Amino acid sequence: MNYKKMLVEAGKRMVESGLTVETWGNLSLRDPDTDLIYLTPSGMQYDDIEEEDIVVMDLNGNRVEGERKPTVETPMHLLIYQNRFDVNAILHTHPIHSLVFGVLHRNIPAIIDEAAQTLGDEVCCTEYALPGSEEIAEEALRALKDHYACILANHGAVCVGKDLDYAFKAAKVLEMTAEIYHYALATGEKITRISEEDGEYMRDFMMNHYGQNKE
Ligand SMILES: [Zn+2]
Repeated sequence: MNYKKMLVEAGKRMVESGLTVETWGNLSLRDPDTDLIYLTPSGMQYDDIEEEDIVVMDLNGNRVEGERKPTVETPMHLLIYQNRFDVNAILHTHPIHSLVFGVLHRNIPAIIDEAAQTLGDEVCCTEYALPGSEEIAEEALRALKDHYACILANHGAVCVGKDLDYAFKAAKVLEMTAEIYHYALATGEKITRISEEDGEYMRDFMMNHYGQNKE
């Protein structure tokens, strides 16, 4: 598989999704066969990034290929891969509705089926930490737990998955859930979240039975 090409195309897909603007956000992939990490370069427009701009590192952060400065959030990407062996793709975006809760420092509960199925019982928000710092890396890992998304306080979102498609799905579902939660809170009425039991049932169903190739 050409991981550099996949990452270049994913950068364009991220900007087109509207989940981040300009050069903000960043992405990475892990090749599970070699444990090499492919990172987007720092501060480049996603439309301008080519395969030779991708930085390749080992799991300890030693550069293996590429001349560019990698994303400033490289410590966060590496720490997640070092601790989450189920994760092969990380998408960091700055989405509007998720950031409403990022500035409130509030978690987003599973209030719709898609969130319960894809993200887990709750998406947690970190404490504030500076971009690019070791602290933000540790906060992101802590808030992610064994889930697929977290919110970086006053900053953005981190979504992960076994592959790029899952990370993108998590990113879209998180933003959709945040938008609905925002509207629901604005009514001032009581909000009913999905029970842990129903959430677990749906996650098991999605993981083991949903789709054309499963019974
Ligand atoms: Zn960011």
